[in-house]
Amino acid sequence: MHQAVDRSAGYAITAPPITTVAIAGADAAFPVARVYCVGRNYAEHSIEMGHDPDREPPFFFMKPADAVVPPGRLPFPTRTRELHHEIELVVALGEGGRDIPEEQALDHVFGYAVGLDMTRRDLQAVAKKAGRPWDMAKGFDQSAPTGSIRTVEDIGHPTKGAVWLRVNGEPRQEGDLDQQIWTVPETISYLSTLVTLRPGDLIMTGTPRGVGQVEPGDHLDGHIDSVGDLSVSYDS
Ligand code: MN
Repeated sequence: MHQAVDRSAGYAITAPPITTVAIAGADAAFPVARVYCVGRNYAEHSIEMGHDPDREPPFFFMKPADAVVPPGRLPFPTRTRELHHEIELVVALGEGGRDIPEEQALDHVFGYAVGLDMTRRDLQAVAKKAGRPWDMAKGFDQSAPTGSIRTVEDIGHPTKGAVWLRVNGEPRQEGDLDQQIWTVPETISYLSTLVTLRPGDLIMTGTPRGVGQVEPGDHLDGHIDSVGDLSVSYDS
């Protein structure tokens, strides 16, 4: 699964490992560069069927690359009493670039995965109120469990399909990819005007309605049509 690379030479300390995501049906793994996350990107049901001419430009926050972990059993995060789940379509970029036109944006996509933008909602509320950064609410250890990547070759570019999340078997989040306010090409294009994108970048594209609390011992099942499933269990 992982290629052994000598990362010890020439550095004063042990070099950090490269975070990888598994690729469905492939031995090689996907190396993660950066993780960009889109803020609110699903319209409420009343407007999601039509255009919203007053939509604001997308906004972004980040998680460190090593926040990306495989699904499975995870320790419950520290310093929160309000851990929230956000099920999201994750875009994996195979090519980078800047000022990428929308019409060319999908050519930069390697594949797609199901991910969770786990959020310390209590810390985020404090940060919002104080006008402080969201980093400790969003970019903590293991805050981005991500399932295997399905390649574009395999599934194309999904623009429609159910997105859901269940906690202990109970439905929590339900939506459809076609409810995204900013489409994947629009998001890539816009983000590439803010930063130079790199191969290995992941973009978490926002979550549908229904976010909610996760308790120690909870089991999460997430799904996106044609992209896959993901299961996470938190230690009690
Ligand atoms: Mn999110």
